[in-house]
Amino acid sequence: MKHKKVALIGNPNVGKSTVFNALTGLHQHTGNWPGKTVENAYGECHFQDTLMTIYDLPGTYSLVSHSLEEQVASDFICFEQYDVAIVVCDAVCLERSLNLVFQTMEIIPNVVVCVNLMDEAKKKKIRINLKKLEECLGVPVVSTSAIRGEGLDELMRQVIQVDRKTYYPLIYPKYIEDYITLVTPFFEKFDYNPRFIALKLLSGDSIFSYLPEVNQEEIKSLLRFPRKIFREDDIVGTLLAESKKVGQEVVQFEDEKYDQSMRKWDKILTDKITGIPIMIFMLFVILWLTIRFSNIPSSLLFDFFAFIETKLTWLFNMLSFPWWLNGVLIEGVYRTLTWVISVMLPPMAIFFPLFTLLEDLGVLPRIAFNLDHPFEKCRACGKQSLTMCMGLGCNAVGVMGARIIDSKRERLLAILTNSFMPCNGRFPAMISMISMFFVGMSSQYSSVISSLFLTGIILLGIMMTFLVSYILSKTILKGYPSSFTLELPPYRRPQIGKVIIRSIFDRTLFVLGRAVSVAAPAGFVIWFVANVSIGGTTILSILANFFQPLGILLGLDGMILLAFFLGFPANEIVLPILMLGYLSLGSMMEVNDLVVMKGILVNQGWTILTAINFIILCLFHFPCSTTILTIKKETNSWKWAVIAFILPTFIGFGLCLILRCLFLLF
Ligand code: GDP
Repeated sequence: MKHKKVALIGNPNVGKSTVFNALTGLHQHTGNWPGKTVENAYGECHFQDTLMTIYDLPGTYSLVSHSLEEQVASDFICFEQYDVAIVVCDAVCLERSLNLVFQTMEIIPNVVVCVNLMDEAKKKKIRINLKKLEECLGVPVVSTSAIRGEGLDELMRQVIQVDRKTYYPLIYPKYIEDYITLVTPFFEKFDYNPRFIALKLLSGDSIFSYLPEVNQEEIKSLLRFPRKIFREDDIVGTLLAESKKVGQEVVQFEDEKYDQSMRKWDKILTDKITGIPIMIFMLFVILWLTIRFSNIPSSLLFDFFAFIETKLTWLFNMLSFPWWLNGVLIEGVYRTLTWVISVMLPPMAIFFPLFTLLEDLGVLPRIAFNLDHPFEKCRACGKQSLTMCMGLGCNAVGVMGARIIDSKRERLLAILTNSFMPCNGRFPAMISMISMFFVGMSSQYSSVISSLFLTGIILLGIMMTFLVSYILSKTILKGYPSSFTLELPPYRRPQIGKVIIRSIFDRTLFVLGRAVSVAAPAGFVIWFVANVSIGGTTILSILANFFQPLGILLGLDGMILLAFFLGFPANEIVLPILMLGYLSLGSMMEVNDLVVMKGILVNQGWTILTAINFIILCLFHFPCSTTILTIKKETNSWKWAVIAFILPTFIGFGLCLILRCLFLLF
């Protein structure tokens, strides 16, 4: 059997992952906003007598731009050994996609152009003369509608057949061509196109790690020559001009007003006056749906796990397990684990599909567009708003999502401020406080009012993100915002089935799995400190007494601070730990009835100030252990992980102190 290595490349959001999934049958995350395929994924497929390994590269607009993920794509296309490159293009905006086609054709002769989203183009009455495109480019062109599986067999057939030896003849301005002529003799012996190496040298890219045999001394003079006169725009301009020329020859718009309805929506969603209020309203609706519909499944899960617990206890007693083993396993590990699942699963199972729906519709890039200007004022990048949206689901995911930001400085800003967005795990504790102290628990509008409060709290987090990004940009992360052009992809009708499957498997279960894996050991530690005594006092009480002075100073108490510290592995266990501490129980306790819970808190001396400061601390305190580890991994340095720990904690403590002073004054 023959074997071919195939690279799949394309602009973000052109359906690359959809093509990849259709060909390989592997499940891969797909969605409607730029820059999400971050890691290299690969899969295999058989066609006729050939086994193909297909590499799904991160979306990129160009092979010379340098966000982390674009670098991955660029390095693969430029320096890996592979047989064929499929460049996936968007039939709706073909001209924009051609830029990457030309760049790729300069690196490898065996290119197959896949014009995807043909169904969308047809709907918009855009006609593409594929034959002519093939003539212009000199490589096979295949039209596909990947979402319906149309054209994929033909694509594979062309991938197997394509066998070209010559590169596409792009002609650059004379001084660049002269330079290419000068340089190419040095690089003819390598596997790469010497023209492309010359262009890389000209752009100042380091290529020597890929060409270890090159004598750098020998070509030093060649490197110096062009820098003074070279302008990157001369290369980009040539590519754009060629794309335009070919685009005009092959694309025909039968209906010039094809994107009128999209423009109409964009006018409303990205308008200076209506854009931001609509975004806030959407946030409110998502929160309301999450709050309103997660209570019932949550309490059903609680009851179910409680039932299993009685059975397990009975079994352990039957087997005459020692009391401490029973305690560690059931009251410690099992109860923490099931608490996390009951509290987290229902809101996530509602929040993530709604969020994925917005993503698929194409709303998220509009949010980034609206927030681009304020972020620029804070010297940060507009794409940070996308990482913030992800942070609402899970901060660790938000931190990882910061890879879509090109500049390292701006990526760090997004990473360090991500925890100002309260993740799903923090919602339940905040909602309980809002219901108990501010809304009233029996009002029929309580879920609406709670959602309004929560929206307000998230807005406070957004304000803080702006403020802290600005301060960091003026201090430890000095610099100016890089310019970036955010693509506004067309709105697309989401596929509901896919949205649900993706949000449940890719997100909900992924986040839940991580939370559960830290909750189990945390359950053990919590049981231990609550049951082991030194001099007649449990370790839990000793620790709470230790934190008491600081707690009082901040308008809280020692047990609250301790609950936050012990909740470091997973935010959702803060409230149960607090109940455990207050009631001097040996294990975490479920207090489902908010009236009972409020009674316990008030007995412990809680006032409105305590509730407000508790919410403030929920919003601004160190990120959970998973997020901290993710930050360390993403930045490759403990320094930023430590800063990410200290920064929100300092802000939270500071705000609590200020509020306490204000309450004392008035
Ligand atoms: P990538 O960013 O290039 O990997 O793009 P995705 O594969 O994530 O696709 C982006 C969006 O386009 C998703 O909502 C897909 O469902 C949708 N999509 C992909 N291919 C097609 C197609 O051929 N027709 C239509 N109508 N939608 C498509």
